Amino acid sequence: MSIENNKSKNLGTKFIHAGMVPDPSTGAIMTPIYQTSTYVQEAPGVNKGYEYARSQNPTRKALEDALAIIENGQYGLAFSSGVAATDAVIKLLNPGDEVIAANDMYGGTYRLFTKIFAKYGIKFIYVDTTNPQNIQTAITAKTKLIWIETPTNPLMNITDIAAVAAISKAAGSWLCVDNTFASPYLQNPLDLGADIVMHSSTKYLGGHSDVIQGALIMNDASLREQLYFIQKSCGAVPGPMDCFLVLRGIKTLHVRMKAHCENGFLIAHFLRKHPKVAHVYWCGFSDHPNHDIAKVQMRGFGGMMSFTLKDDSIDAATKVLSSTKLFALAESLGGVESLINHPASMTHASIPREERIKNGLSDGLIRLSVGIEDADDLIEDLTQAIG
Ligand SMILES: *Cc1c(COP(=O)(O)O)cnc(C)c1O
Repeated sequence: MSIENNKSKNLGTKFIHAGMVPDPSTGAIMTPIYQTSTYVQEAPGVNKGYEYARSQNPTRKALEDALAIIENGQYGLAFSSGVAATDAVIKLLNPGDEVIAANDMYGGTYRLFTKIFAKYGIKFIYVDTTNPQNIQTAITAKTKLIWIETPTNPLMNITDIAAVAAISKAAGSWLCVDNTFASPYLQNPLDLGADIVMHSSTKYLGGHSDVIQGALIMNDASLREQLYFIQKSCGAVPGPMDCFLVLRGIKTLHVRMKAHCENGFLIAHFLRKHPKVAHVYWCGFSDHPNHDIAKVQMRGFGGMMSFTLKDDSIDAATKVLSSTKLFALAESLGGVESLINHPASMTHASIPREERIKNGLSDGLIRLSVGIEDADDLIEDLTQAIG
């Protein structure tokens, strides 16, 4: 079974050592949790580069350096949540600016765009980004940002990052890629021409369902300056304990992602063969509509997938959702434990039903975040739940 290509060869060493510098005061190998709000100055204006913890914190600095390294970027910035990171990107814009965004993306991103930023005069145009031509068609002189998510949540659609980056560059726009689902183990959008990578570090980077956090990574120094200014001015910074948890999570990202990919492969194939299952959305299948692009821009296909039953009713889905014993019924994803979710009533409830159905998100769709438990046990659990 081919689940990863050889480009993932040295990722383990990189993830374990990213940004690690022994603590200068003690030599501690793990960056300490600098639980402080301020720093004592030697004389007015004379300090060690740390003045106030909203602006700088050594634990956050170690994490931000690590984030840059694992995404092959120059600069990383950590935020108090994934949506806070997204919020900072939109604050680069001015009233009248236009954003072209994917019509199939994380519900919270859609809510932030339509319910918060639209009223400040920023215009959002939603298109099916799996065909980059749709983005080209939507470009105007006011386009300042293109926002894509790939793979998407929950339909696992893939957008060609390099093709969109070329369109964005020609239009003088920024391209931001939400890389939460793939994680830096499977995909590095900056290498494909994106300007900003966004993560909900809550998911695979943290990896243990114990922290809420977000990240932005970029190469351009001026973009970093603007985003750092927004970070410190608006104040959505993560605490040092949370930075420590994400730093620790990153050290095992390669081991976890490899296991997520292996289990994802086995469960996607199990579901596809199940007589009661109608369709499995997983980008690793060779007949997935965007599989060819996934194969080029990703190193593996991960453990996220969705499926529908032949009986695509809320009732039939509810029976499965309330019968699993290992798969916990919960929002979120990317932790070591398996989760099962009902997008229509949970993660995507904020999208109007008509809009949701139009975008292929049916009432009965079930999403899985396949964890790293033993695959046999997960398959046994799904077998009894689907019945
Ligand atoms: C969870 C998630 C977010 C939002 O991140 P939070 O950490 O929950 O604020 C954004 N995009 C995707 C794809 C997500 O899964």
